[in-house]
Amino acid sequence: MEYRKNDIVTLEIVDCGTDGEGIGKADGFTVFVKDAVIGDTIMAKIMKAKKNYGYGRLMEILKPSPYRVEPVCLSARQCGGCQLQAVSYEEQKVFKEKKLRGHLERIGGFTELPMEPLIGMDEPYHYRNKAQFPVGRNKKGKIVTGFYAGRTHAIIENRDCALGIAQNKDVLDRVIAHMEKYNIAPYDEATGKGLVRHIFVRYGFFTGELMVCLIINGQDLPHQRELVEKLCEIPGMTSISLNMNKKRSNVILGDKVKTIWGEDYITDKIGDISYEISPLSFFQVNPKQTWKLYSKALEYADLHGEETVWDLYCGIGTISLFLAQKAKFVRGVEIVPAAIEDAKRNAQINHIENVEFFVGKAEEVLPREYEKNGVYADVIVVDPPRKGCDEMLLKTILKMQPKRVVYVSCDSATLARDLRFLCDNGYELKKVCGVDQFPQTVHVETVVGLQRKDT
Ligand code: SAH
Repeated sequence: MEYRKNDIVTLEIVDCGTDGEGIGKADGFTVFVKDAVIGDTIMAKIMKAKKNYGYGRLMEILKPSPYRVEPVCLSARQCGGCQLQAVSYEEQKVFKEKKLRGHLERIGGFTELPMEPLIGMDEPYHYRNKAQFPVGRNKKGKIVTGFYAGRTHAIIENRDCALGIAQNKDVLDRVIAHMEKYNIAPYDEATGKGLVRHIFVRYGFFTGELMVCLIINGQDLPHQRELVEKLCEIPGMTSISLNMNKKRSNVILGDKVKTIWGEDYITDKIGDISYEISPLSFFQVNPKQTWKLYSKALEYADLHGEETVWDLYCGIGTISLFLAQKAKFVRGVEIVPAAIEDAKRNAQINHIENVEFFVGKAEEVLPREYEKNGVYADVIVVDPPRKGCDEMLLKTILKMQPKRVVYVSCDSATLARDLRFLCDNGYELKKVCGVDQFPQTVHVETVVGLQRKDT
């Protein structure tokens, strides 16, 4: 049966799409419905119809799913950040494992997957160590801060995000009160006028150190000293800075930072390794789960102290430094020069000397080092962005023939594609483990251990 725009259909939601939307079927016609949960029976209005599928709007829940829970955050539905808050955490984990398994089976063509149970969080809220809150005005002219409504730049007032740290609210309350008291205007995207664009907060879960950075469309903040005094009353305050961004674009941070109180950075730890993190540095946003993810990667790398390891797409060297504790020598490759500067600094402050870092594209640096310098690897670790590994890189890995490859992935579809290539050419899947780094969202990270077949 075919459906048209504005038709009303009754659906049983039988699946969950990759963006968390509910998927239901009505006489062979598939309908994707935002905010519908697996197990719901709903009434939806068709908003857009193609031949065999369409998009519906949730009109009424006729029978709620047994997996439905009340979202912790009042803004969960409008804010684009969390897609799964209305689903119980137990069911979120089932969904993520199914998504991972589905991609490996359908795209990778794997059967009999050596899957370990997905590693979830005991407390699946308040896990993010970083937040960037836009500042603006509401229709009445009042200064607001919170989140952009999904896909737009309208600000939903919310100072207490369920994924962020409890201190966020205190920081935001004090900054907004300061702006009100001294008549400091928030930035207006439409006119390019106004001063305060974003409030950036970062926290070291391990050290308790707190950082606040105001992103401003100018050079100075009026009555800076008074704000510093107020912010310093918050326990753990370590670093307060201004970031200048006068560009009219969506990029949040400019490239200049001026510390106005305390240190230029905060320190945090993942396992035994310390990191110095400035407002501009990249750092994993959920360090507790990152530790579990990297511990799995280390387990699959199976190092005994004699191995030479390459860590490709190494960022600030987090995995490299983790592996260096157990390997003879680790070489990291990363495309962003500033990240490699951080990686070198992190090696230094932790007194790790058996590492070397290269700036460049992994698919260029590795072939070059292999062809020219005949480098060798016992183990290769890759942690690529969502688009996965470049084919040139995979081909070089095949030429180098490491005993083990550890693949850390943030996109199970490209992971499945790349694993198929490696497994068609001499490698075998030994272990697969999903890690939930981002509870309440649809994202899932994966670690895979591969072994060369003849070893
Ligand atoms: N392993 C790191 C981060 C991985 S995220 C950590 O744990 O912190 C992926 C990284 O790959 C990013 O830092 C990105 O800048 C980098 N990157 C993207 N394309 C690349 C390429 N072609 N070659 C090398 N690095 C690349």
